[in-house]
Amino acid sequence: MAEKTLTGIPAAPGIAIGEVFLFKHDEPEFREYPVTKTMLESEIERFEESLKQTRRQLTALRNRMAKLVGEAVARIFEAQSAMLDDIEFTGMIRRGIRKDGLNAEAIVHRTAHSFHDAFAAMDDEVFRCKAQDVRDVGHRIVKNLLGKGDVTIGPLEHPAVIVTDDLLPSDVIHLLRQNIQAVAADLGGSTSHTAILTRSLEVPSVVGLRELTTLVQNGDRIIVNGNSGKIILNPQKLTTKSYIVKRKRYEEYLESLSDIEHLPAETTDGHRIFLKANIELPGEAGAVLKHGGEGIGLFRSEYLFLTRNVIPDEEDQYRDYRKVIESVAPHPVTIRTFDLGGDKVFTDLPLPAEPNPFMGWRAIRVFFDHPNLLRTQLRAVLRAAVAGPTKIMFPLISDVHEIRRLKEMLEEVKSELETEQVEMNPDIEIGAMIELPSAVVMADSIAEEVDFFSIGTNDLTQFVLAVDRGNERVRMLFRPLHPAMIRMIKTTVEAAHSAGIDVAMCGEMAANPAATMLLVGLKLNELSVSPLALGEIKKIIRSMSYEEAVDFAEKAFEFDTAEELEHYCIDEMKHRFADLPIWFNSS
Ligand code: PEP
Ligand code: MG
Repeated sequence: MAEKTLTGIPAAPGIAIGEVFLFKHDEPEFREYPVTKTMLESEIERFEESLKQTRRQLTALRNRMAKLVGEAVARIFEAQSAMLDDIEFTGMIRRGIRKDGLNAEAIVHRTAHSFHDAFAAMDDEVFRCKAQDVRDVGHRIVKNLLGKGDVTIGPLEHPAVIVTDDLLPSDVIHLLRQNIQAVAADLGGSTSHTAILTRSLEVPSVVGLRELTTLVQNGDRIIVNGNSGKIILNPQKLTTKSYIVKRKRYEEYLESLSDIEHLPAETTDGHRIFLKANIELPGEAGAVLKHGGEGIGLFRSEYLFLTRNVIPDEEDQYRDYRKVIESVAPHPVTIRTFDLGGDKVFTDLPLPAEPNPFMGWRAIRVFFDHPNLLRTQLRAVLRAAVAGPTKIMFPLISDVHEIRRLKEMLEEVKSELETEQVEMNPDIEIGAMIELPSAVVMADSIAEEVDFFSIGTNDLTQFVLAVDRGNERVRMLFRPLHPAMIRMIKTTVEAAHSAGIDVAMCGEMAANPAATMLLVGLKLNELSVSPLALGEIKKIIRSMSYEEAVDFAEKAFEFDTAEELEHYCIDEMKHRFADLPIWFNSS
C-alpha cells in the first residue's frame, strides 16, 4: 500500500511508530440467530461465562481507576458491577434466551435497550444515570459474547496506536491502558479538552484528522508525530528510518531537560517566575513534581465528573482534593470550580444541547441555578485545604458582580462549616479567571475583589477573535499571538499590578515556547502549563534576562497583524533555541 501523509492538529507531544488499533464509538455488531432447543442450556452457560468475564473487567477497571484518577470515577464501575447481580436484569435475559430460542447477543442487546429506554424516560436523574450504565454494561457483555474482548479495559496485547473518530473526555480509560503508543482522532482541536487530557497523560496525540478512521484498518502501520501534527500511513522503510532518528533526537532532548527541571524558573538577572502545572485528574499530581512544577496553577476539577453517571459527593471530592493538596504541599494548588458546559458535557448533569455551548449555560452560570453544586464543592475544598496551601479560582467571570456573589456563597459555606465544627482552612486565596473580553475591560474593578488573576487564553482567544476553539475549520484563525491578545494581556497585568495582586496565565499560550519571552516581558508572574511542558518553558526562562524580555515585549506592540507578531516571536526563539523540537520536529 502506498504511503500517505495526513496533517492534523498536534495535541500532545511525542513520536510513535506502530500499528493501528481502530476504536469507534459505535454499537457492537452482531448477528441474531436461532438456537435449537438442545443447545439452549449451553447458550445460557455462554451468557453466564460472559457475565463472569464482565465482572472481572469491571473490578479491574474500578481498582485501576481508583488508584489513577480517584474514588469518584471508580464508583461508576461499582454501580455497573451491581447491574450484573440484578436478578431482574439477568433473569430477563435467561428467560428471553429460553423462551425466544435466540442467541445470547440478541437477547442481551434487546434487554439492555429496553431497560435503558425505561430508565431514560424517568424524570429522576438517578434513573437516567442508570440508563447509561445499563447500556454500557449491555455493550460490554455483548462484546464479551462475541469474543471481541474488552475494548475499554485491560492492556492491549501489543503496543498500538489508537485511531478513533473522536476522543471523548470519558475515554480517559483507554489512555490509561498500557501499550497505548499514541492517539490519532478524526475530530478535535488543540485546546479541546480531550487534547488537553492526552497531554496530561503524556500520550502523544494528533487530532482533527477528519477522515482518518475511514482510511485505516486494524494492524496497518502508522507513524504519529504529536510534535508536528503529521500522520503517516503505511510508511516506506526510508520514512520509518527517518522517524526513528527523529524520535531518538526528541528523546535525547527530553533527557537534556531533566537536568534543569528541578532548578528555579529564574531569568539570568534573577527575576523569578512561578512555573506551575495544569492537571485534570488527581493522579497527575505525581507528574507535576516529577517535572519540577512549583505547584498546580489550574486543577480542572470538572474532570471529577468524568466517565459519566456520578456527581461526586462531598466526601469523594474531599478525598480527591486532599490527595492532590497533600502530594504537592508545600507548593500551592489552585482548584478551579467546576467549568461544566462548553465541550465538557458530561451526561450526569442534565446539560441541554445548545447551539453555542461555550457561550451558554456554563461554568459559574450553572452554579447560580444550582447553588448546591458549588456549596458542596466549596465545602470539600475548604476541608481539604487543611492539608496544604490551596487557592480557589472561578472561571468565566464577566464582571465584579459575579465575583461578589460567589464570595458571598463562599462566606456562607465557611460559617456553615464553622457552626458544624467541621475542620477546615478558611485561609484560602480567591482568584478570577480572566478569559472573557468583558473581564479584561473590567479588570481594574475585579482586581479589587480577588487575590489573583489567571488568564485563560483558550477561551480569551476564542472570544476576542470570535473563533470557536474546537472548530477545526477555523483553526487557522485561532491565534493567541494576535496583537489584540497582547493588548488584552497588558491591560490585565497592569490592572492587577496596580491593585497589588499577581497575574498567572494557565491557557495553552503559556506552554507555547514561541510566546515565553513575550509573556515574561509582559510581566506575568506565573505560568501554568501541562506537566510535560515544564522543562522546556523553564529552559527558555532561564536563558534570557528579564530586561531583554521586557524590551522584546515592548517592541511587540509595533506589529498590527498576527502574521507579523508570530514571525517576530518565532524568529527570535528559533534564533535562540535552534534545538527546540517545535522546529526540528516540524515535519
Ligand atoms: C482557558 O480557557 O484558557 C483555560 C485555561 O480554561 P479551559 O481550557 O479549561 O477552558
Ligand atoms: Mg477557559
